Amino acid sequence: DPCCAAPLPVLGRDVTVPLVIGGEVTYAALDYAASAPALQRVWDDVAAYAPYYGSVHRGAGYLSQLSTDLFENSRVTVAEFLDCREDDQVVFTRSTTDSLNLLAAVLPADCQVFVFETEHHASLLPWKDARVTYLNAPRTPQQAVDTLERALAGREPNGPALVCVTGASNVTGELWPVRELAAAAHAHGARIVLDAAQLAPHHPVSVRELDVDWVAFSGHKLYAPFGSGVLAGRADWLQDAAPYLAGGGASRKVARRTDGGVDVEWHTTAARHEAGSPNVIGVYSIASACKALTEAGFDTLVAREQHLIDTVRAGLAEVPEVKVLSLFGDDAPRVGVISFVVEGWNSSHFAAALSAEYGIGVRDGLFCAHPLVRTLLGSDPQQIGECGAPEAEPGVGVPPAEGWGRSLNAIRVSFGAGTPDEH
Ligand code: PMP
Repeated sequence: DPCCAAPLPVLGRDVTVPLVIGGEVTYAALDYAASAPALQRVWDDVAAYAPYYGSVHRGAGYLSQLSTDLFENSRVTVAEFLDCREDDQVVFTRSTTDSLNLLAAVLPADCQVFVFETEHHASLLPWKDARVTYLNAPRTPQQAVDTLERALAGREPNGPALVCVTGASNVTGELWPVRELAAAAHAHGARIVLDAAQLAPHHPVSVRELDVDWVAFSGHKLYAPFGSGVLAGRADWLQDAAPYLAGGGASRKVARRTDGGVDVEWHTTAARHEAGSPNVIGVYSIASACKALTEAGFDTLVAREQHLIDTVRAGLAEVPEVKVLSLFGDDAPRVGVISFVVEGWNSSHFAAALSAEYGIGVRDGLFCAHPLVRTLLGSDPQQIGECGAPEAEPGVGVPPAEGWGRSLNAIRVSFGAGTPDEH
């Protein structure tokens, strides 16, 4: 029975924390959507490699060669994990945010960008130098496809265009119709990048099957430590543009010109956008996590997580004061990310009480998706609030006066197949 399969062993699962009401309890870190704890397997792999690490690519010594092999093999592992096309490139970055900013930096001239207002800010904001069309929040997956179709049909034909879409929402956990959106994008001559920060830790992501042009994700949400991420996909836009960072590692040849200047020949591989000494440990840990998830088997992981999702949602449904936030409705397929408000409670106070009195770590706020959370709460999508913090406006911090829709931030509980069983 996959629902009863052991959770993936994660670091820090036996931490006990003191409670303000006295005593202590095993801490339940249920903020995986922000950062998932590293898998024990990842930690073990990194610990085994750590005594031997060296700088990659240009070292002739044994440790440099070993590290270069691990680094480049990690690229292959990630390409396999994402089921990339043969000529796709896997660029190692710092995070999903960094990956999407890299893509924004290599957009062809006059590129139009289409993005739903419901996106995480990492997907919403990097396109500042392009012409951006912000699409209204859809209320069904089909409406998302229709909205995109309409917007693309109205665009200037022939010019380059990019659609940026999340695979799974970091607020509602809901899955987006990525394959259909990709088909719509391609039918109108646009390309599409998938923000898989919340999808990749929970579901297999196949670039080929989804037919997306690029995928971005972060190691620290995929059970690896902080500091590394991935942008994988089509090579052409990446290679037609100037390097994201200029420096060693990105350059193949540098020579003084007779006129006193400098000529540079940049790499045409992923290295073009990986200037500087890369985060070898971070990259290796991403590859280790990819292998661990693949070996555990996504069928098993998805079934186990679904069991946890059903359990949490059933528990929340028993509390009449709780309202779970959803864009696509109760039956929408989702990952283990559930946001809610509690009538009569300020979300920040509620989250603080969960931690102090029960040892349950959750997140409160607007989850770096301000327009989406405000839409879901029925508050003004144009209001500006702070990411992850209680708001400063008057009236905020008081219990909702008229029921649902008056709470100005929310509580989020998130978990994955590696979540400890005892909670
Ligand atoms: N996209 C989504 C859907 C996310 O949930 C997050 C992180 N919360 C990001 C992008 C940004 O990831 P990172 O902070 O690792 O850059």
